[in-house]
Amino acid sequence: MSILNADLHCHSVVSDGTLTPEALAQRAAANGVELWSLTDHDEVGGQHRALAAARSHGMKYLTGAEISVTFIGKTVHIVGLGFDADDDALRQGLAATRGGRGERAQEMSDQLARVGIKGAYEGALRYVGNPELISRTHFARFLVETGACRDTGEVFRRYLTEGKPGFVPHRWATLADAVRWITQAGGIAVIAHPARYPFTANEEYALFTEFKAHGGQAVEVVTGSHTAAEAVKYAQTAREFGLAASRGSDFHSPDESHTDLGQLPYLPGELTPVWELLAERIQ
Ligand code: AMP
Ligand code: MN
Ligand code: MN
Ligand code: MN
Repeated sequence: MSILNADLHCHSVVSDGTLTPEALAQRAAANGVELWSLTDHDEVGGQHRALAAARSHGMKYLTGAEISVTFIGKTVHIVGLGFDADDDALRQGLAATRGGRGERAQEMSDQLARVGIKGAYEGALRYVGNPELISRTHFARFLVETGACRDTGEVFRRYLTEGKPGFVPHRWATLADAVRWITQAGGIAVIAHPARYPFTANEEYALFTEFKAHGGQAVEVVTGSHTAAEAVKYAQTAREFGLAASRGSDFHSPDESHTDLGQLPYLPGELTPVWELLAERIQ
């Protein structure tokens, strides 16, 4: 059933969001979300809290995480849904993926210092809820706080992205590993916000083909990161590749996110919603 207010993508203070899992659950419920998932970057540390909070508001829940992957030299995000959050191989894989963020953050800070922005590492750390998860988002908050940029959108136009000061490339998990960790823990792998990657048509075709070959089963079609036209495009891609469709706001913060929890269009009716494949994993 496509007419379901499912929000299967958002972030808490356990990664780079600004709200606790409990505050997110409350906000999701207030916005009418019926099926929710907290999908922190490379981390499942918030899952038990999120499930308990979802229950207290009468929302159904799917476990979630958004895994950082390096595919042909570019960063891709793979959301996992409905896995066993206590699975050892998954937890070890995520811990390995988190490794190295500290050193990367130090290098980002060094680069920013060279263009006159001092103390960025310490500044970003003040926004970090989970020390293993220091991310570009935390640097962006520091750059807004100091007045270097007006908002986080401006930050990512002027800094922290390829070719700009503060960009430090990083090797994340492989696509094969990320899909395997998720599926072997009983979950479904989902390509997150496909319109956001700087791929050529051929590279994107390779991503979808290899993702399917590794056992990936779904793609985000309706997300806070897609325009209406992009949702139409990836609904077509889902049909071509025989993938189920997911829906999620990618909400990070009331101050930064344009799309609030649960406040996005329903999935197009002719697609298989990913939650139909996960009926037995809904808690
Ligand atoms: P990292 O995992 O440290 O590379 O940080 C990636 C995070 O930065 C993403 O999950 C987003 O939250 C944020 N981000 C990346 N690009 C942008 C952008 N153009 N606008 C806003 N946030 C962005
Ligand atoms: Mn993020
Ligand atoms: Mn993402
Ligand atoms: Mn996300």
